[in-house]
Amino acid sequence: MEYIDCATCEQHMNSFIENKLVGEMLWQFLTHVEKCPDCFEELETRYLIAEALGRLENGEVINLRNELAQKIRVTKRAMYFHYFNEDILRVFEIISMIIIVYEVFGFLSDFFGIVF
Ligand SMILES: [Zn+2]
Repeated sequence: MEYIDCATCEQHMNSFIENKLVGEMLWQFLTHVEKCPDCFEELETRYLIAEALGRLENGEVINLRNELAQKIRVTKRAMYFHYFNEDILRVFEIISMIIIVYEVFGFLSDFFGIVF
């Protein structure tokens, strides 16, 4: 997979802040920002300004620095879950089938006094 450079990352910062970045570009953006201190700092500044301006009107007391870190974490986790969701579900299905089989056998052996 090719990763975006700093210039491309910067182009997408405002879209990210406005929650308009999606899919592959969002994933690449988050991956870059996590690895690139310069871009993270730039994003942090933009985020703080954008959010602070919005919140000033509401008079909210906030910890924006933590919120940005959380926004990155939550978004990436949600994307990770989205991408690997199907594999995880399949694993859970298999596990629950094993448990059901195990319980049925356990029930039969209790009921009939049979040891499997
Ligand atoms: Zn960068």
